[in-house]
Amino acid sequence: MSSSSSTPNSTTRFRDDLFCFYGDRMQVHTSWTNCNPGRRFMSCPNYGSNRRCRKFKFLDVELPNEYYKDLMFQNHMQLRKLERDNQLEHCKDYT
Ligand SMILES: [Zn+2]
Repeated sequence: MSSSSSTPNSTTRFRDDLFCFYGDRMQVHTSWTNCNPGRRFMSCPNYGSNRRCRKFKFLDVELPNEYYKDLMFQNHMQLRKLERDNQLEHCKDYT
């Protein structure tokens, strides 16, 4: 028998974060700004809309320095460019 120590409270605490004050389910996105490249965050689907919900939370820590941020951002832009080029050529093969 294995005696794995489970933490029952962590599940309920996480569920609190899944919904905003208005009861909307939070959505996970990845930020690809040059300030926070590749950084995941949760936000309300109404964030920035006229319902004025401002529930927003970063899931990942900030990258330690400008070098990493720049590297992540440049890699991402490169990848996006490649994906766009590929889609133009092989869009029929991938469906
Ligand atoms: Zn909301």
